[in-house]
Amino acid sequence: MSKDSILVINCGSSSLKFSVINPKTEEESINGLAERLGSSEASITWKVNGEKNTQQLGQAAHDAAIEALVGLLRDQNLMDRIEAIGHRVVHGGEKFTASTLITDEVLKGIEDCCHLAPLHNPAHLKGIRAAMKFFPGLPQSAVFDTAFHQTMPAESYLYAVPHSLYREHGLRRYGMHGTSYRFVSKAAADMLGLDYENSAILVAHLGNGASACAVKNGKSVDTTMGLTPLEGLVMGTRSGDIDPNVFSFLNKQCGYSLDEITEILNKKSGMLGLSELDNDCRAIEEAAAKGNERAQLTLDVFCNVLAKKLAGFAAEMGRIDALVFTGGIGENSSTIRKNVLNRLSIFGFEMDEAVNQEMFRGKNGVITKEGSPVAIVVATNEELMIARDTHGLVS
Ligand code: ADP
Repeated sequence: MSKDSILVINCGSSSLKFSVINPKTEEESINGLAERLGSSEASITWKVNGEKNTQQLGQAAHDAAIEALVGLLRDQNLMDRIEAIGHRVVHGGEKFTASTLITDEVLKGIEDCCHLAPLHNPAHLKGIRAAMKFFPGLPQSAVFDTAFHQTMPAESYLYAVPHSLYREHGLRRYGMHGTSYRFVSKAAADMLGLDYENSAILVAHLGNGASACAVKNGKSVDTTMGLTPLEGLVMGTRSGDIDPNVFSFLNKQCGYSLDEITEILNKKSGMLGLSELDNDCRAIEEAAAKGNERAQLTLDVFCNVLAKKLAGFAAEMGRIDALVFTGGIGENSSTIRKNVLNRLSIFGFEMDEAVNQEMFRGKNGVITKEGSPVAIVVATNEELMIARDTHGLVS
């Protein structure tokens, strides 16, 4: 059997997502999720040929989940097909500007970035170390969310704070969703017949976490997320941009501690906080359609912030060859796409309503009329990008 596939692993603090992908044919032989790791109710769920299965793991952490994954891959006769393992890593700081094979030095580098992503990088390290133990001899790579944005010029990534904070502590904009931006911007250029190396593409990655990116000549030149994913757009539970003095206001006026304020802005704000209904865009849209005014206002705030950012990025790039919508909301919500494009009519965008309605569940296509600047829906596939990078690194 030929080693034609990559095992892609995305390890969170209590979960581990995995899939086995052939980077050339794009065929996915299995995907799944181990959840509630670290508790006594850990379980692993997987899908093969459209069929879903679950196995309880009892008290299990990342090590046990990876061990269970090895058993699963053996049962499915997939073990011998795995050429290498690709790990999603959220933060690579300024050290990692591209995907890389994992060595001791790389592990140390990921560890050095833990303070920049305290919820994510330590979990990735657990996953990587467990994978090294249970898949001995298989090459492993790290694919960073931040790497694509390392091409941003200083005028985009620097905050106007004392420069020593950048020099001594690395306080700057890093941005996230880089693997998705790399995938969809190239895919959009290919679909539209654009020369990627000479293009100006705006991308809105709208999921539970949401950000936007200006991709000029195939490189990220600006993005909305910052030092952390909190900055920028309105998200499911994150506020996005606010006056930084909100911190002292909430502390002094409302008596919240630093940790409580961080929790409010990250977990209780965004669509959830504003609507007082839900963090899920679908639920907000349904409520708005039934006449709930705050739900409609929530959608309008979300779209207003996004449109303003996109317009700013367009000014930065000097032109728009394509505006790409991706992520769960970008790929599925005709309502949000229409609302945003209406706000960008100054650029001449004219939506094709009928086509817009048809774009959901992974369909790709242009949603604007002939003669309008192009807006296009492109389904993202970060796992495939990780598989391609990893295959490229080992071959
Ligand atoms: P994550 O950031 O967790 O990866 P996803 O990219 O999966 O998020 O996107 C999740 C978001 O997509 C949710 O807010 C969900 O409501 C939204 N979504 C999915 N389908 C639709 C739909 N048909 N209409 C509107 N929003 C949708």
